[in-house]
Amino acid sequence: MNLPVQTVGLTKRYGGLTAVQDLDLTVRTGEVYGFLGPNGAGKTTTLRMLLGLVRPTAGTVRLLGRPVGAGQLAEVGALIEGPAFYPYLSGRENLRVLARYAGAPAERVPLVLDLVDLAGRAGDRYAGYSLGMKQRLGVAAALLKDPRLLILDEPTNGLDPSGTADMRRLIRRLGAAGCTVLLLSSHLLGEVEQVCDRVGVVSQGRLVAEGSVADLRGTVGLRVLAEPLD
Ligand code: ATP
Repeated sequence: MNLPVQTVGLTKRYGGLTAVQDLDLTVRTGEVYGFLGPNGAGKTTTLRMLLGLVRPTAGTVRLLGRPVGAGQLAEVGALIEGPAFYPYLSGRENLRVLARYAGAPAERVPLVLDLVDLAGRAGDRYAGYSLGMKQRLGVAAALLKDPRLLILDEPTNGLDPSGTADMRRLIRRLGAAGCTVLLLSSHLLGEVEQVCDRVGVVSQGRLVAEGSVADLRGTVGLRVLAEPLD
């Protein structure tokens, strides 16, 4: 089975510090998976190992069914840092430029604008967009190549409540459209994390809880989810 993400026993040590320990992480096709944990818990190190940027100390990573390598990264869309857009071009023009560079068909541009709910503002200059709209345009850019896996790293960082609510709706739409999404977040069941089909909670490099939001509320208790874990 070609699971989008499968790690087994994934471990990364930096000298005496264990950043990620014995991580078994599975993201299934079509699910929105939230990988949650406080700063320093090991999320970024895990992401780097998933993308083949950092070599694991132990364990294995399979991405889209294969050992991680350059080949399948073209099939992964990622919003990792705010992407660079041209401020004086419109949202639509920016996406057209990116589509051309990425070899994505121009017909994808209106589709992804619609998906991120920016169709009505697509002709406005990027410089005039709110932070939330910029983030959503970043998601649109990540979707241009119709990726088999979409990775969103802290997509609500810096957003106000209305931007966060828009991102929540967007992630729900992506899930409904059958996208496979891996969401990394330092919020523990904040507003956006609640739209995940499953969440895994990582603390000090270890997966300490995994399940649906409802499961975790029941079995782990709100205390664990409400407090910093380290
Ligand atoms: P954040 O949200 O702040 O990025 P995180 O959950 O992504 O946090 P990591 O950045 O993966 O956490 O860091 C996990 C631990 O590994 C931390 O203690 C960090 O200091 C350590 N660490 C990460 N990268 C390195 C490195 N290159 N060398 C040494 N220690 C590192």
